[in-house]
Amino acid sequence: MADLVIKNVRQNAGASVNVAIVDGKIASVGDHVANAREMIDGGGAIMIAGLVEAHTHLDKTLLGMPWYRNDVGPRLIDKIENERVQKRALGIDPVRQSARQVVLSISKGTTHIRSHVDVDTECGLAGIEGVMATRERYKGAIDVEIVAFPQSGMLVRPGTVELMKAALEMGAEVVGGLDPSSMDRDPKGHLDVVFGLAERFGRPVDIHLHEPGELGAFSVELIIERTKSLSMQGKVTISHAFCLGMPDQDYVARLIDDLAAAQVHIMTSGPASRPVPPVKRLQEAGIVVCAGTDGMRDTWGPYGNADMLERAMLVGLRNNFRRDDEVERALDTCTFGGARVMDLQGYGLDVGCKADFVLVSGEILAEAIVTRAPRQLVVKNGRVVARDGKALIEAE
Ligand SMILES: [Zn+2]
Repeated sequence: MADLVIKNVRQNAGASVNVAIVDGKIASVGDHVANAREMIDGGGAIMIAGLVEAHTHLDKTLLGMPWYRNDVGPRLIDKIENERVQKRALGIDPVRQSARQVVLSISKGTTHIRSHVDVDTECGLAGIEGVMATRERYKGAIDVEIVAFPQSGMLVRPGTVELMKAALEMGAEVVGGLDPSSMDRDPKGHLDVVFGLAERFGRPVDIHLHEPGELGAFSVELIIERTKSLSMQGKVTISHAFCLGMPDQDYVARLIDDLAAAQVHIMTSGPASRPVPPVKRLQEAGIVVCAGTDGMRDTWGPYGNADMLERAMLVGLRNNFRRDDEVERALDTCTFGGARVMDLQGYGLDVGCKADFVLVSGEILAEAIVTRAPRQLVVKNGRVVARDGKALIEAE
């Protein structure tokens, strides 16, 4: 007896099948209709693997709070310093705010999130504690992985390294970093700390790299060197990597070869305002590319809605993807790419995989992506967690 059978669904827009779930896993896929405690008619909807939000900032969204009037200056440091002040002034509660975004993500079909969470000498570990509380509260409905993220720099703010250690001891799984040259103005020192923590705690690394052009490329080279010397192939992600969108194509080609050889992953949000890593070239070189909303509705900017199907569309638009197979590549960054970066076990739609999936309306995948098709049903660990675009669990 199956726990749940979803009848008449089309995996990745293929032929109609019935999917049976037992103990939170996909037990069978085919014509046969198993006896089940619960039966749901999929009505010919497309079934895709659960969406993976591989880069966001759950601790500091302003979702559900009064509109924040953004008068912030244009530089990165303006946004960072303003945010530190506003966290206190606006009363941004990491527990409440992360819960709101998590519930929104569940409603949109996201089953896994990697969240960078601020660690600095002003907020201390409040963000980490808040997101850990939310993770505990919603476990079963969504999986959340936490990156200890030194948003305000590490070496420029004494005491931050100790807080990073404490965050990793407390439950953050990944070591974060930020612009080694332009933030700490000490690329070697910054990366020595990041990779030193990774080695000491045996954790993966995910570094925000906004640095443009050749400065960013220099940081990429340093990251590759450390990845290889510590045998961390497959465990290092560079988020944003705007420098891979720089005009010097010969230099970019060399970097892509070196990133592929070191198995360093790349995360893109497909931003409209910056050069972006070329997703297709990276994938064709064998580099795993994942995608994320990044910060949404926060003091940095008003945009974002946690919809990873929309993110796939934005990645597609930004990469000039027009062919169906290209648009599907963009979706891959929001599903399997993210799953590989987060090293998710049992991810996918095959028999034996965890029953984490989404039913979306539409004829084919490309159509579902460009229309940001309604999410009919979201299943996590074999249980229905959202229906018709609404999560069955609420925030406050
Ligand atoms: Zn970010």
